[in-house]
Amino acid sequence: MSSEPFSSDLLKSRCLVHGQWACSVTGKTFSVNNPADGSLIGTVPDMVEDDFSDALDSSKEAFYYWKSSLASDRSAALKAWHAAIIANQDALARILTLEQGKPLRESRAEIRYAASFVEWYAEEAKRLNGEIIPPHQSSKRVLVLRQPVGVVAAITPWNFPAAMITRKVAPALAAGCTVVCKPAPQTPLTALALVELANRSGIPPGVFNVVTTTDAETFGRLVTENSLVSKISFTGSTAIGKKLMAACAQNVTRISLELGGNAPFIVFDDADVDSAIEGALLSKFRNAGQTCVCTNRFLVHRRISQEFASRLSLAVSNLKVGSGLDVNTDIGPLIDENALNKVETLLSEARSSGASVVCGGSRHSMGGNFFQPTVLAGVKPNMRIVQEEIFGPVAPILEFASEQEAIYMANSTRSGLAAYFYTRDFDRFWRVSEALEYGIVGHNTGLISTEIAPFGGVKESGLGREGSHHGILDYTELKYICAEVKREE
Ligand code: NAP
Repeated sequence: MSSEPFSSDLLKSRCLVHGQWACSVTGKTFSVNNPADGSLIGTVPDMVEDDFSDALDSSKEAFYYWKSSLASDRSAALKAWHAAIIANQDALARILTLEQGKPLRESRAEIRYAASFVEWYAEEAKRLNGEIIPPHQSSKRVLVLRQPVGVVAAITPWNFPAAMITRKVAPALAAGCTVVCKPAPQTPLTALALVELANRSGIPPGVFNVVTTTDAETFGRLVTENSLVSKISFTGSTAIGKKLMAACAQNVTRISLELGGNAPFIVFDDADVDSAIEGALLSKFRNAGQTCVCTNRFLVHRRISQEFASRLSLAVSNLKVGSGLDVNTDIGPLIDENALNKVETLLSEARSSGASVVCGGSRHSMGGNFFQPTVLAGVKPNMRIVQEEIFGPVAPILEFASEQEAIYMANSTRSGLAAYFYTRDFDRFWRVSEALEYGIVGHNTGLISTEIAPFGGVKESGLGREGSHHGILDYTELKYICAEVKREE
């Protein structure tokens, strides 16, 4: 493990508001700690309502000129930001691992993924076309403009501290909106490093502000009450998403929601089991099981379920648990003690209802926030471990007997973000793809995220899509202009 002290001019201890590094009006700060060993990485301002209001005012002021800037200029600014992220990817990845815990290899991949949204929307900025519609009367002309919605409040979680920010900020800026972003308090340093690079890249003051705080509730109240905010883009839990959505009703503020999932991973008896195991490792154990698209339950045909469980356990037993800074680490720590407690409780309830541990099953001997990668067999659909997001490295296996049963089990949830299935049967590929009630479906793959495709869920997993050409549309409003053209006298 690399333990040499890390210093970088991207490690910030203040927030960027209107191009200036700012403290809270109260002077208060909070600490950011490494989830691998609890050590202090830095402190950041604990901002309060007055600070949030300043940031919103700044973004409103910036909106007046940013919205009228040339699309090609916004594109150039985003391209410069993309280049700066790529040039600094090693330092960014290290900051991300220090505060979030995921292995450096995964942090590097996340930084490149985060950068890909900036590049993609730098390109999309120039393609935000309006329309001219053939008129309904000969004297009329019908035009449709696509205009930026205004100031956006972006609220993001700790599990992808870089990508969840750029997936919102890049399309917003490309469309001509300005953004106040509130990152999760566990991982504010990556957000501050990203905004520093945006600032260095010539993105003007106020166009992208970042405020850090431990008082998310006040931030949420302010941005839903304040009519300066035209849109909220939230990624996080379904419970908080619902609260924000209800609060948005008072001003009819637009809201996009990227919420929790409960991904099924179906393995049919005609599947290539080697490739299913490979996909299972990626979709279940990436980020120690703390991703919204993580497999939450394996549904395996009963003819092959024992073989699948023992082969998965073999592969899982080889995963190396440790600090994310160690190049050999596959599984880092969970984010905090609450996360560990939740995983432990769900596991112990499942065991007392008859599930059996095939490998792992408890906290890791390293102590701290580390949990053993675990495979659990004999799981039943009524157990809480398959009804709630586990958000930890535990793979519960359930059995099914027919395609219809697998689809029924997969769809028996209020979540609808990602689903995976493995089959070599082409007709089944179509039937199952169409029947799954999910926004994202992986066929014979456990890795589905890319900037070029629309990411988002159905049912209680969210509203709207991020990424792809669709991801910018939520930051725009349509304006229809009906023009009367007089005949020549
Ligand atoms: P969370 O508790 O909902 O928090 C998400 C963000 O919302 C944090 O910045 C949090 O700040 C803030 N927040 C909490 N209460 C708020 C309020 N009343 N008003 C405004 N903001 C508020 O979720 P999490 O535990 O950080 O993240 C994990 C969840 O995110 C999982 O459910 C996961 O599936 C989901 N997720 C979804 C996607 C997707 O694309 N669909 C991607 C990643 C994660 P505080 O921490 O200070 O409360």
